[in-house]
Order: sequence, then structure tokens, then C-alpha cells
Amino acid sequence: MAIIGIDLGTTNSLVSVLRGAEPETLANEMGEHLTPSAVAVAQDGALLVGRPAWDRLIQSPASGRAFFKRDMGTQAVYPFGGKRWTPTECSAMVLNEMKRIAQLHLGRETTRAVVTVPAYFRESQRAATAEAATLAGLSVERIINEPTAAALAYGYREPDKETRLLVFDLGGGTFDVTVLEVFSGVIEVRASGGESRLGGEDYTDALLDRLLAQCNLRPDHPGRAQMRPLVESLKRRLSAREQTAITLEGHELLVSRKDLAAAGAELTGRLRPIVMRCLRDAGLEPEKLDEILLVGGASRMHVITEFIAGELKRPGSMKLDPDRVVALGAAVQAALCGESAAVKDLVLTDVCAHTLGISVAKQFSPGQIVPGYYEPLIERNTTVPVSRAKLFSAFSPQQDSILIEIYQGEARMAKENHLLGKLRVTGLKRAPGEEDPGSVEIRFSYDMSGLLEVDATVEHTRKTFHMMIEERPGALTKKQIEAIRQRMAPLKVSPRDRVHNRARLERAARMYAALKGEERQELTMLLDRFEEALGSQDESAWDATGRQLDIFLSLHALEEGEWQPPAEGKAPGA
Ligand code: AMP
Repeated sequence: MAIIGIDLGTTNSLVSVLRGAEPETLANEMGEHLTPSAVAVAQDGALLVGRPAWDRLIQSPASGRAFFKRDMGTQAVYPFGGKRWTPTECSAMVLNEMKRIAQLHLGRETTRAVVTVPAYFRESQRAATAEAATLAGLSVERIINEPTAAALAYGYREPDKETRLLVFDLGGGTFDVTVLEVFSGVIEVRASGGESRLGGEDYTDALLDRLLAQCNLRPDHPGRAQMRPLVESLKRRLSAREQTAITLEGHELLVSRKDLAAAGAELTGRLRPIVMRCLRDAGLEPEKLDEILLVGGASRMHVITEFIAGELKRPGSMKLDPDRVVALGAAVQAALCGESAAVKDLVLTDVCAHTLGISVAKQFSPGQIVPGYYEPLIERNTTVPVSRAKLFSAFSPQQDSILIEIYQGEARMAKENHLLGKLRVTGLKRAPGEEDPGSVEIRFSYDMSGLLEVDATVEHTRKTFHMMIEERPGALTKKQIEAIRQRMAPLKVSPRDRVHNRARLERAARMYAALKGEERQELTMLLDRFEEALGSQDESAWDATGRQLDIFLSLHALEEGEWQPPAEGKAPGA
């Protein structure tokens, strides 16, 4: 059975599938590939989804809702049609519509889908999206980041081209930027960033505000809802020409690109730091980019093409239709999930968009303990899947328990980040007479679908506490979570168990037996340092101390030949 791809957009949604070897978006009965992400209740009480809902909303803004993607993962409720609806339920209605359109084309019901979300979507927003899919009777094979999907559509077309690519995705309500490398069929995401409340609709609102002010009308003028589509259409016309006219409440206005740029200046100003941070995270200068791929309808605005040419020193490209490219990539990802032969040579690696860490207390001087600092374990833009651990100590040998608070975000103080869960670890108290406080190794393992697993092991008892941050409650059954857990198990190999480290340790142990005196003492010191580094989880320290050990081992080669540091094989979790 075909797996479908769905781009659940702020303004419009699309459904797609890989037919033969070609990704295609599927048209609704009106022949439109873009279905407005809008729901409303008709006068006779019928539920409307898509274009009819959009049209009804213009006439009667209180009859339904659009742009609910912006509220995904929040407690927002929309009263309409005599009931209260959540953003998740509204999204479910649109997803259900996408499923229905797919059925029209494929001749039978499809229940499996890949759904795209903005890269910076937090766990709660992804969870809400997956839950919406479940409500629509879809099982989510994968949630994939929108710019990654765009790059996948692009990389699928030109798999052999080596490119450093920046995907600039300005949709109706969201902005996403991603830097990727494409080479020999491998699509590697280097960094991602964005903002959830910055998109084409904000430019429309800003332009409308400016024009209302020009006409001496209040921003909350009762005719605003009816004026908005006129201004939206004006904004689009300005993508094709320098200036154009509009009549608002009897006022005739000539509006130019300059007016749109001035109205949206604050919005455009917010794009720059996001783009620059993403490039910095990817370790690239703007000049090193080979191509800039424009995605999202709002990237057609002249103010955006100018911004890109100015900041990134080259024009953006629209090789693929910016409205459809994300959905086309979702179809390619769907084919990857279905192990279709058409995509067998394609490999995709992604990154996590937000830092994951825990709250810690710091001791600045004896007795002065300040809690609430954020200690990252997995930094943003780390390639996933990934498993990282750090060791944390109690403050005294008598302290028996620690409450681990798990956060997602970039702020220095834990509370300013997004709390994902709490895990209580007990049994830290040391036996009477022991001077060292108990310590816990905390390990985070994060997989491709954005599922976080937390393990805490008390060092002196090896007792382990485990927690799964079930960020997609609707989408994953306990059985599926267990299956993912199994899949992630090989990731949890300790650094000591990596092939090359294990080889170093074994070799050193043999040499230790063969040496005496000063040489043995020197080896002991190097080995101690290496083992300490392995315990620290600091990869640069393993490398540095491992290399010192290698030098010693090669200088004191055992009789059977030169010591060769073992090849760094693709160790699990590496
Ligand atoms: P999306 O979420 O990708 O569907 O983005 C839709 C957004 O793109 C809306 O805010 C539209 O106003 C905007 N848009 C679509 N076409 C154009 C155009 N030709 N010029 C300017 N903005 C456009």
C-alpha cells in the first residue's frame, strides 16, 4: 500500500505520492493542488474544510478557523459552530481531507503517511501534529522537517551533484532555514533554525495596517476581514510588478514594493540573525554556499529576493515550485519509509533543532549552592540519531536522591527552557565512612523521529532509572516505542566499547604485562588518563588521550610488528 506525503501548511496543505519514480502532488476535486488549511461550519451546520471553509471565513470570520498551525502544541481553543475546537482537531480535519484526496487518486484508502513540520517545531508541537494524524485515521511513518523535505525533493532530482545548499523557507506563518550538503545520493542536514511566528501572513497584516493608517482608518476597522483578501492579492501582485493600485473603503491607493518593504521592515529584520546563526552552526560562511533554494509562497516577495541577494551574496533559486517542493520531498520520504526501489540509493541524515539538557545546581563556594542552571547534553544541530552522557555528582555523601528535570531550549537558566519531563533517581547515599558523594551518569538518546530516551545510572550501584519522553502520544503505541527502543539499543554502547578504543585498551594491557620500571609507570599514567577521558564522555578528550597512547604503543611496539592504531570503524553511535 502506498504511503502518502502530507505538507500540513499554515496557509495551505498538500498531499503527495511517489508514482513510478516521480513524486507528484495530488489535486483536489477543484483541480487545485493547494488546499487551504481552514475549517468552518456552514449555516446549515455542515463542516467545511479547505477552499469552501476559507471562503466562508472571509464572509464570517467567527464561523471557523485558519492559521491554527501557529497554535499547535498550545492550549488554544476556538469556539465555532456551537463547539470548542483545539488546533489539533482542526489540523485533524485538514489531514482527513488530505487522506480523502489521496483516496480519490489511488482508488483506495491510505492509512500510512509522512507528515512535514517546521524544523524548529518543539516536541509538544510535533506531538500535537502526530496526534492530529491519529485522529484523522493515519499512522505516521515519520515526521520530517519541512526544509529537509525540500532538500530531499531537490537531492532526489540531482543525486550526483555535490552542493552546499541553504533552504530558505518562508511560508504563510512560519520561517525555517536549513543548511545541507548533498553528495552521491547522501543528503546531510548540517544545521536548522527558524521562527514559528514569522511568515507571509504577517507581511499581509503589516501592509494592511499601513494602508489603513494611510486612509485614517483604525487597525480594528469592522471591514478588516473583507479588506484582508484584497491586500493579500495586492501583496502577491507586487511580487510580479513594481507597483499596483487598490481601493479600500473608497480610498484609491497606489502601492509600491517600497511600501511593502517598509511595512514589513521589522519582520525582514528578524530574518537575518536566524539565517546567520544557522550558517554559524553549520560552520559555513555565506560565500561557501553553492545554492539557495527558495521554498514557501512568501519567498516570492521582492523584499525577500532582495534580502537574500544582499545578505547571502547570490540570488535564490526556484528550480522547484516553492509551493509544492516540501510535499514532493514528503513523497520521496514516504517512498524511503516504504523501501521503494526508486529511492534505494538515497540516504538522509538530519539534525535536532533544539538543545536538550537538564537543570543543575552550581556550587560557587562551600555552602553556596544555586539551583536552576541549564546543562546541555545534546546541543542543537547535532546529527541524529545520537546518544550522549555526562556524569553528575550529589553535593554530599549523605544525599540520597536527585530529581532530574529534562529541558529543551537554548536559555542559560533551565526554567526559561521548555520542560519535557522529570525523573527521580534514588539510592545515591554512600556507605558510612565513604567521603565521595554519589554520582549519576545521565544519558540522552535521541532518534530520527525525535524520540528522547533518558537513562540515569547510579555509579556505585549501577542501578539504572529509565524514562522515555513520549513526545508523540497519539502516534506511538507502547509496542512501537519498544521497537524504537530496541532499534536505539546499539547506540548505547559506551565509548569504552567502541571498536578502536577497545583495541587500544587490549593492546595496552598486553604491553603493560611486557614492560617494567619507568616505562611501565609511563604507560600506567597514559592509560589512566585515557580511561578517565572515556569516563568523561568528552569526545575531544578521548581523541587526545587516545592519540598519546597510540604514540607510546607505536614507540614500544611489541615484537610481532609495528603498532597500528586501529581504523576508526563505523562504531555504533559514532
Ligand atoms: P505556504 O505556507 O507555503 O503555503 O505559504 C503561503 C504564503 O505565501 C502566504 O502567506 C501567501 O501570501 C504567500 N504567497 C503565495 N504566493 C505569493 C506571491 N506570489 N507573492 C507573495 N507572497 C505569496
